[in-house]
Amino acid sequence: MTTTRFAPSPTGYIHVGNLRTALMNYLIARKAGGTFILRIDDTDPERSKEEYVDAIKQDMEWLGLHWDKVERQSERLDRYAEAADKLREMGRFYEAFETPTELDLKRKKQLNMGKPPVYDRAALNLSDAEKEALRAERGNGVWRFKLDHERIEWNDGILGDISIDAASVSDPVLIRGDGQVLYTIASVVDDTEMGVTDVVRGSDHVTNTATQIQIIKALGGNCPRFAHHSLLTGPQGEALSKRLGTLALRDLREQGVQPMALLSLMARLGSSDPVELRSDMAELIEGFDVNRFGAAPTKFDVQDLFPLTAKHLQSLPLTDVAEAVADAGVPAELAEPFWAMARENITTLADLKGWWELCRDGAEPLIADEDRDFIAEAIALLPEGPFDGETWGKWTSAVKEATGRKGKGLFMPLRKALTGMERGPEMAALLPLLQVIRAKA
Ligand code: GLU
Repeated sequence: MTTTRFAPSPTGYIHVGNLRTALMNYLIARKAGGTFILRIDDTDPERSKEEYVDAIKQDMEWLGLHWDKVERQSERLDRYAEAADKLREMGRFYEAFETPTELDLKRKKQLNMGKPPVYDRAALNLSDAEKEALRAERGNGVWRFKLDHERIEWNDGILGDISIDAASVSDPVLIRGDGQVLYTIASVVDDTEMGVTDVVRGSDHVTNTATQIQIIKALGGNCPRFAHHSLLTGPQGEALSKRLGTLALRDLREQGVQPMALLSLMARLGSSDPVELRSDMAELIEGFDVNRFGAAPTKFDVQDLFPLTAKHLQSLPLTDVAEAVADAGVPAELAEPFWAMARENITTLADLKGWWELCRDGAEPLIADEDRDFIAEAIALLPEGPFDGETWGKWTSAVKEATGRKGKGLFMPLRKALTGMERGPEMAALLPLLQVIRAKA
C-alpha cells in the first residue's frame, strides 16, 4: 500500500517551500488511496519547539491536508539506538574525534589541492588505545556510517536516472558526540519501519538520499521510490531561501490568500500542467502526477496567489463566506445582495469592509463642474423605494428621457457621483445597497 510522509522539523513555521513537499506527498497518498503520515522530525531538542508542532498542524488543517497518523521521532529514540547497534555490529559504524576546526582545516587543504572535500576516514586507523585517549581528552566522538565506495543509483521520479559516486561523499555522521541521533539515520529507520513507499522532498536532499539508500540496504530495509523536486526561486530566479521566512503559510493567510488558491498553484507550479484554479481537493488529487514535474528551479511569485484567490472567492456562495460578510459589518438582511455585488470586486475577503463602508456611508462624490446640474436633476428623479435590482435601469431610463444624455455621458457621472470612482461594481447591484440613497428615496 502506498504510504507517504511529510516530515517537517518543528524549528519554524511551514512556508511555501515546504508546503510543496507536504502537498506532493499528500496528493500521492490520496490518489493511491494510501496513507499519509505527518512525521515530526524532532530529534534536536534544542531547536524543536512545541509551538511549531502546533503551528504546523494548524497550517495543514487550514489547507485541508489531513493526515492519517502522527509520528514523532523524539518518541522513537530506542529504535534508532537499535539500528545504530546493528550498524556497529556490522562494522559499518565508526567513532571519529576530529573537532570542527580540524575538519575545516582538512577541507581547506583538500580544496587547495583541487580535491573534493570528503572526510578522509582518518578515524578508521585509530587503535583502541588512541580512541580511549581521545575520548578521555575530548569526550565521546561522533559516529559515522562507512559508505561502500561504489556508485549509488536510483531512478528518481522527477530527476530521472541518478548515479552518485559514494567516494565523492563524506561518511555521514549519524550520531553526535552528545548522543543526539541525526536525521539521516532516524529518517531511514522510520521510512523502513513505517512502510513508506514514496518519498518526495527537495533536491537539497539528493546527497542524503544517496547515503540513505546505503543505510537502508545495510539495515535490510526496502528502498522507497524517491523524487526530488526543484527548489523555489523568486520571480527573477533569485534564491528564495532567505525570503522564505516571510513566505510562511500564516503570513499568506494573514494577507487573505485562500487555501484553494495556494493549493492550486503549488500542486502544478514547476510541472508541465498549467496552473489553473481547481474547485476542490478531489480535483487536485485526480490531476496530480509527480512525474510531470521538471528538474529546473521553479519560479514562485507570491503575487500569483491573488488573482487565484479572487477567482476562487467569486465562485463561492454566501454560505461559505457568511462569517466574513458579517464581520465586515453587513447586516444579515443585506448579506445576500451585498455578496452578489461584492464578490466580483474583491481580491481578498479583507476588501469586503471597504465595499460595505461605501454602501453604508456613501462615498465622497466625484462630480465635474459641468455635471452638477445633471446630477441634481438625476437625484430628483430617483424612484420611490424600496430599491431592487430593477431600480437602476428604471432610474437611468427616466434620467435619459429627462436630460437627453445617453451612454457613457449618462452612466459615468452617475457612477462617479454615487461611488466616487470611475470603475467598480455593477450599478444595478450596488444601488439597492447604498444606504444613504435609500434614505433619500
Ligand atoms: N526533516 C527533514 C527536513 O525537513 C525531512 C526531510 C525528508 O523528507 O526526508 O528537511
